[in-house]
Amino acid sequence: MPTPVLEVKNLKTYFKAEAGVAKAVDGVSFEIARGETFALVGESGCGKSVTALSIIQLIQDSGFYGGGQILLNGRDIIPLSEKEKREMRGNKVSMIFQEPMTSLNPVFTVGDQILETIMLHQKKPAVDAKAAAIEMLRSVKFPNPEAVFDEYPHRLSGGMRQRVMIAIALCCKPDLLIADEPTTALDVTIQDEIIKLIKELKDSMSTAVLLITHNLALVYNNAETVGVMYGGKIAELAPARALFKNPMHPYTVKLLRSIPDRGRRARQLDTIPGSVPPATAYAEGCRFSGRCPREMQGCAAIEPLLSAREPGHFAACHLYDKEFMEKPLSAPLHREAEALPPEGVQPPISTPPDAREPLVRVAGLKTYYPIRKGLLKRVTGYVKAVDGIDLTMKKGSTLALVGESGSGKTTVGKTIIRLIEPTDGEIIFKGARLTHLKESGLKNFRSKAQIIFQDPYSSLNPRLTVGKIIEEGLLTLKPELGKKARLEKIASTLGRVGLDAGAMERYPHEFSGGQRQRVGIARALAVDPEFIVCDEAVSALDVSVQAQILNLLKSIQREFGLSFLFITHDLGVVEYIADEVAVMHQGKIVEHSATEELFSNPKHAYTKKLLAA
Ligand code: SF4
Repeated sequence: MPTPVLEVKNLKTYFKAEAGVAKAVDGVSFEIARGETFALVGESGCGKSVTALSIIQLIQDSGFYGGGQILLNGRDIIPLSEKEKREMRGNKVSMIFQEPMTSLNPVFTVGDQILETIMLHQKKPAVDAKAAAIEMLRSVKFPNPEAVFDEYPHRLSGGMRQRVMIAIALCCKPDLLIADEPTTALDVTIQDEIIKLIKELKDSMSTAVLLITHNLALVYNNAETVGVMYGGKIAELAPARALFKNPMHPYTVKLLRSIPDRGRRARQLDTIPGSVPPATAYAEGCRFSGRCPREMQGCAAIEPLLSAREPGHFAACHLYDKEFMEKPLSAPLHREAEALPPEGVQPPISTPPDAREPLVRVAGLKTYYPIRKGLLKRVTGYVKAVDGIDLTMKKGSTLALVGESGSGKTTVGKTIIRLIEPTDGEIIFKGARLTHLKESGLKNFRSKAQIIFQDPYSSLNPRLTVGKIIEEGLLTLKPELGKKARLEKIASTLGRVGLDAGAMERYPHEFSGGQRQRVGIARALAVDPEFIVCDEAVSALDVSVQAQILNLLKSIQREFGLSFLFITHDLGVVEYIADEVAVMHQGKIVEHSATEELFSNPKHAYTKKLLAA
């Protein structure tokens, strides 16, 4: 059997932290053959990216290797000198990151940056290096590689920059390519192109690929083998198809069942209670204990070992340990979470979507941004971000607005709630025209229409406690409430989104991403809105946390009869949550229909392209 390109053996990468030693990667083993794609998946904080950085030898500062080996073509690379490691990086092992702009140097042209890698590692004369760089740009599908060679990164789109990163990563034909969330920041259609491109180049160069992602659909379609990481360890390792068909570890089962899609519309999504524990405080035994629905008496104390359940299919769980299961230790732990299964069927809303009353209507809505040029900043034209759209949001319904970045989705949301002034058209709320109202006339509307943003961290003032953040809105929009009533309102709203009243005294940085998004929802909910714009509200969250937030949004919609405008690029989320979908392209709505209809019978070419991606 040929030597695998990469063999990771019992790798331990630790960090010194105030609370002790953080065991970010703690005894991880896997291998990748030439031409194989191996995917590492799991929630944030489970050790995927540290595994990647360990392999490319970029662990810095407080990090250190606690043991194990990383063999590249049979040679252990951990003991290499700094000079040898530098030669290896870019030459034998390359890496592409989520956000290419952070790895591209903005002051050098694309050509300079590819040439630097080729000349450093291949010692080619300048003329040959330039020819090779242009050839590489051609192979990552730039139709005009000579022109791109002279461009600066900031003048390229996100998808083009990621293609430049791939060109740099593959220009020396490395044996191993590490792709860390390579498409997360890109639109679905571009994601598809980038993944196809990596696959094509991998096949033609027989490169081994380590794909790190939280996107399980990407894994299903592109990886041969999958390792599911949890708590710095591999929880399950299997051929991709076997893992999706027959997941064995309770963590993998939970992850797969928390993915939203049409089949789960009538139910709540499965969620994983609690959050990933900090790497300084893992349980002695199974690290998933405390969150696992199938936990048994002995799980937290005794570590389960990764062992084969079927040929090539490994899981680290006592459920598959015959000896353990025969002992009293295997008695199930009955916890509260089990008594309340999250997958209950929700009561139907009595009014069918077609018969629900309109709440917000926009007609002929236009939002143009002036383009100014010259010393006098004269207006020389307009960017037509929103260009004459008609939409109706109904009471108790969710309208999803989908499309690529730059299509105008976010501008629509912000214009409707008057965070941006419309250039033309009508916004009608409960039959009243709002478009020409000034700030004073908008007060009632402001409390009835709220927005939840993608990144809860940047939208919450870090200097204010959560209580003060929610109180700010109440002071402005519900001045009739006295201090006591305000505090009661804040506590009850926090309770409604699953946070205890103690959260009022804490600051945003003290919460996890999912909890911060709950704070964002509580802030919107506190002023008793009827209409909420959710602008990519679950896009930045791990799939298990995303499931919790989607469940929460669905349940508050049912409880309060809210209307949502749900702006997203995730079509799985759309299928799960939306009653209707409007597809936006270049500032216009190109298709609008009921969710079922749109997914089963898309009519516009652009919708077909989106669905295919
Ligand atoms: Fe759950 Fe126990 Fe298996 Fe861990 S060992 S995943 S706690 S059943």
